[in-house]
Amino acid sequence: MAALLTSNRVLIAFLLGLAMLPLFAAQFTVTIVNYIGLYALVALGLVLLTGIGGLTSFGQAAFVGLGAYATAYLTTRHGMSPWGTLIVGMVITTAVSLALGFITLRLSGHFLPLGTIAWGISLYFIFGNVQALGGHGGIDGIPPVDLFGLELGSSRAFFYVIWITLLAAIITTQNMLDSREGRAMRCLRAMTMTEAMGINTLRYRMVLFMIAAQFACVSGWLYAHLQRFVNPTPFSLGQGIEYLFMAVLGGASAVWGAVFGATAVSFLKEWLQDWLPKLLGATGNFEMVVFGLLTIVVLHRARDGLWPILLRVFAIVAPQRQQMREVEPALPLPRRDAPAPGSEVLRVIEVTKRFGGLVANNKMNLTVRAGEVMALIGPNGAGKSTLFNCISGVNPATEGEIRFMGKRIDQLGSREIAKLGMSRSFQHVRLNQDMTVLENAAIGAHLRGRKNFVQSAWRLDREEERRLLWEAAHQLQRCGLGEHLFDTCGSLPLGKQRIVEIARALCSDPTLLLLDEPAAGLRHLEKRALAELLAKLRGEGMAILLVEHDMDFVMGLADRVLVMEFGEYLAEGLPQEIQTNPKVLEAYLGGVDE
Ligand code: ADP
Ligand code: MG
Repeated sequence: MAALLTSNRVLIAFLLGLAMLPLFAAQFTVTIVNYIGLYALVALGLVLLTGIGGLTSFGQAAFVGLGAYATAYLTTRHGMSPWGTLIVGMVITTAVSLALGFITLRLSGHFLPLGTIAWGISLYFIFGNVQALGGHGGIDGIPPVDLFGLELGSSRAFFYVIWITLLAAIITTQNMLDSREGRAMRCLRAMTMTEAMGINTLRYRMVLFMIAAQFACVSGWLYAHLQRFVNPTPFSLGQGIEYLFMAVLGGASAVWGAVFGATAVSFLKEWLQDWLPKLLGATGNFEMVVFGLLTIVVLHRARDGLWPILLRVFAIVAPQRQQMREVEPALPLPRRDAPAPGSEVLRVIEVTKRFGGLVANNKMNLTVRAGEVMALIGPNGAGKSTLFNCISGVNPATEGEIRFMGKRIDQLGSREIAKLGMSRSFQHVRLNQDMTVLENAAIGAHLRGRKNFVQSAWRLDREEERRLLWEAAHQLQRCGLGEHLFDTCGSLPLGKQRIVEIARALCSDPTLLLLDEPAAGLRHLEKRALAELLAKLRGEGMAILLVEHDMDFVMGLADRVLVMEFGEYLAEGLPQEIQTNPKVLEAYLGGVDE
């Protein structure tokens, strides 16, 4: 709490200082701080894109140019009002970013950076070569913005427009990140898991790309009306790279990192441009070399940039990480209709999965009923996780049929299957280690919320958000993690992280729960508690399919056991049958039991 107060005080002092600045500071300072505001807005988009979404764009300067040229052209040639041109610019930016995103974001990793480079270069040449846009000479005579009849012609007056816009962007971005939509965005790097929770990762990558482009476009619009003149130079690929430096140096994982990065790079650039030519005895863009080297050092030594280091130095808590210490009670979320007890939930028919020449699953069959715990056992490499991946759509079957709640699902993706009411945990834990336990569990409840990113940016999602978090807290409490709600997942031992995965799966209100080695890494008492929880869920009518190596755990809990070996069916039966089955004893338990 004290830390929070300190950070709020720092924030208030910063804002007061900022508000007073144009009243007292020299023209030079006002100009620089105006530019920092413009840069920070673009860098903020990159924080979302790169730091949150794990995507890289070199082409943000081109979006800035789009915003600037749209208003320059339309206000000077067609006499449109700047407010109108802002909307036109944003509409064009939406169209371009959607088209560009549509082409590149479906492809893996480096296609987006390459696509943005191509886009950055071509737009720059268009600005320079189209006569209607003034060629390399550019467009001048751009009118000032007026607000309620007040003309904001001076850079001191415009200072407030820039910084209020930036602060609004920061606040709405923070709001968005602290919501159901933001949690999905923060998990985009763990694509397999995120899709398995029913989240459309492509949609969120698109949204991030579009928002980043809009921030750049608005920055360009502001730039044009501050400068009242545009030419192609500030929208080059080089400037696009500089924006990336700002985001990475400042700290791509925190929204304030954008402001810090823009400030640091701007001042450093001024200073380097003064000193480097004197030092080297020649002129040139040497500062870019320094920035490049600095970025490499930062990426090696401080992945999250300089902002987190700054925070640590001042020992304050980041204002955007509100340390919420309790979960507000809320109405429970609506639940899906449960199948009749004993009815068939899952049927796997002759499923085969091949990895090249390797047959990991060969003609597997199994059924799971509502209110039943079915255990899948077998030595390492038997193909248990592979079968889980086929069933949950994470890595679909090569042949065979899978029916879930009577519907054929073997051709569906994991996201569609999740929507039908199947949820799973992973053998190798897939959590966002930097998010809290509560937030990680809430990812599982994603499909039970409806509010979109615009609503969350404006805090119109709070009622629903309370219900989602309340659900997550409830499931975590059931799983025995009530004390850890606000710890980061990375701080928990691996065994407990597995339990977070179970709670996350439960948050989706599943009909069928798939658990891949849930008891691995748990201590004796924790295992007992887990067995009790699973027995309780079974009592409530849930169907559970689990893979587990701990035989005491399996035999004490499971209703039926299926044994696999070398990707094939070996035996199936009641636990006591399996324990005495000679084939199983020989192949699997052989030597261990006796
Ligand atoms: P289990 O979970 O029973 O220990 P797995 O299902 O993980 O076994 O693996 C079964 C076999 O399939 C192993 O030989 C493993 O090497 C292989 N395998 C699993 N996943 C892949 C993959 N993505 N690509 C190629 N081979 C795989
Ligand atoms: Mg496995």
